[in-house]
Amino acid sequence: MTSVGIIGSGFGALAVAIELKRAGHTDLRLWERSHDLGGVWRDNTYPGAGCDVPSPLYSFSYEPNPHWSRRYALQEEIHAYIRSVADTYGITPLVRFDSEVVAARWNADSATWTVTIGETEETVDILVSAVGQLSRPVLPPIEGIDSFEGTSFHSAQWDHSFDATGTSVAVVGAGASAVQLIPHLARDARKLVVFQRSPNYLMPKPDKPYTSFHKKLFQIAPVSQRLERGGVWAVTEQFARGLDDESRVGRINKAIAMWHLRKQVTDPELRAKLTPDYPIGCKRILFSNEFYPALAQDNVDVVTHAITKVTPKGVVDTEGVEHEVDAIIYATGFDSQDFLQSIDITGTRGQKLATQWADGAHAYLGMYVPNFPNLFVTYGPNTNLGGGSIIFMLEAQARHMRQTLDRLVAGDYRTVEVTEEAELAYDRELSEKLEHSPWAHCDNWYRHRSGRITSNWPGSTRPFAQATKTLDATAFRWA
Ligand code: NAP
Repeated sequence: MTSVGIIGSGFGALAVAIELKRAGHTDLRLWERSHDLGGVWRDNTYPGAGCDVPSPLYSFSYEPNPHWSRRYALQEEIHAYIRSVADTYGITPLVRFDSEVVAARWNADSATWTVTIGETEETVDILVSAVGQLSRPVLPPIEGIDSFEGTSFHSAQWDHSFDATGTSVAVVGAGASAVQLIPHLARDARKLVVFQRSPNYLMPKPDKPYTSFHKKLFQIAPVSQRLERGGVWAVTEQFARGLDDESRVGRINKAIAMWHLRKQVTDPELRAKLTPDYPIGCKRILFSNEFYPALAQDNVDVVTHAITKVTPKGVVDTEGVEHEVDAIIYATGFDSQDFLQSIDITGTRGQKLATQWADGAHAYLGMYVPNFPNLFVTYGPNTNLGGGSIIFMLEAQARHMRQTLDRLVAGDYRTVEVTEEAELAYDRELSEKLEHSPWAHCDNWYRHRSGRITSNWPGSTRPFAQATKTLDATAFRWA
């Protein structure tokens, strides 16, 4: 029996574990560094945390949930869904909690991976990384950040003992997380200062609670929910195809975003601050009905000057103004570019993955890396989306990995390794598309410091599903 070890227990890990288990590969174990499963949906508990992809699509195709309370589910509900799916498919008992993988070493003689988990070692035939792209929160390198005497934390490490009521709060960042948490802070805090380095294109969110009628309908006629899923998928495919303002969809999106801004913000000065000066689609397009009204409140100030330092009392901007606050919340994103570098991975002939990816990560189909046999990476390089459901992408990857494993077992092979030629040819084609993608025109978290766009898949999800539908055995060495 081929043993498989999966690092993580979020959506990506579950997608792979369920796919393999259903196909009869039962020697599975999942290592989870935390005490609970759920990945980013366990960690991001800030007020208002939720998904800006509608839940009928942001869920496994084979496990629809007729009980979603609203179209855009909030974190708690998504986390509960993940746990329930893990239980339903018998994955929970396979998870080893409080088990942080720190290293993995390929042994050519035994054709196995030796995985270091804390002080212990385990050996598996196949190693699957499912650590995601957004699991390591980043604090900005601002002078004096440690000197602040009030409360401060990152949005992904929310301190639930903190009560914003009647306090003064600074939020650093205005991205996807900030847009969700700021309306809550604006409601509770006496004063809120938002440090916005770049504005985002923001579209209205067609959110609504599902009525008991909807829930009944989804239960007695599951096809109705599948239809909603299909409809959402078709819309997000169009959205992803036309992200930039060169395209008709992009121009429509931009017109909607600008209309939304005009409608919700009447103060010309604030409106100017919130108007992006870069092409639409270059940073993630955000969705909210509450963000602009929150910023327009009297107790909220939007500061667009850069931050020079943090002092014991607050935040100083480039105008020399010290904004004194009781708390600073950093909604400053994640270390998304140094893929898998928190784990010391050594492949054939002592090759380090960190060295191979020093100029930015790349992998065949985002999953397979030359010099690293029997290593499968889910939500790896160039598999993130500018719009659409990542769950759809994760399922496609899991299906491909299952085919690879099936062939390995059926052919009585011990190792499978993508060839350098296949990976290079794949990467060349991808890089060509990425150079002409909307993400090439501004700073965003999709790019490595070398300039390479390492996070995103260019375009809509259908071509990725097609590219991963069947296994091209010639792209690999089987031994
Ligand atoms: P983010 O989108 O990367 O936003 C980080 C924010 O911090 C940006 O506004 C950035 O400004 C700002 N920033 C970073 N360093 C700064 C500094 N030194 N000074 C001032 N501002 C600074 O991070 P995020 O909001 O946590 O979201 C990350 C990703 O998580 C999203 O793109 C999305 O994929 C995912 N997410 C998804 C959802 C959802 O609804 N599905 C919700 C939350 C997060 P610049 O823009 O100028 O760099």
